[in-house]
Amino acid sequence: MGDDGAEGEAPRCVGCGRRVRTLFVQYSAGNIRLMKCDVCKAVADPYIECEFMIILIDLILHKTRAYRHLLFNKLHIGSSIDKGILCQFILMHIVLDACIHFHL
Ligand SMILES: [Zn+2]
Repeated sequence: MGDDGAEGEAPRCVGCGRRVRTLFVQYSAGNIRLMKCDVCKAVADPYIECEFMIILIDLILHKTRAYRHLLFNKLHIGSSIDKGILCQFILMHIVLDACIHFHL
């Protein structure tokens, strides 16, 4: 995607996948402003304000934006715990896709 490695931990815009400096600015407790992506000019990650069930429904509907939120902005892939969760999630996803494909 042409990103440099210096911003390896930077969050990503869920719309276009480009790295952004920050997802939100917090002015006070419970008062945040979501930041816009410099490339696509949309809110970088609107899922920050969503409840888990909304994110889960979008994950079930295979929305790319929800997957980007989970993988790039929620899970920090560097830790071994997150790698375990990611591996379990991928395995579960493959099994469920196989069930759908073979009408089980
Ligand atoms: Zn973007």
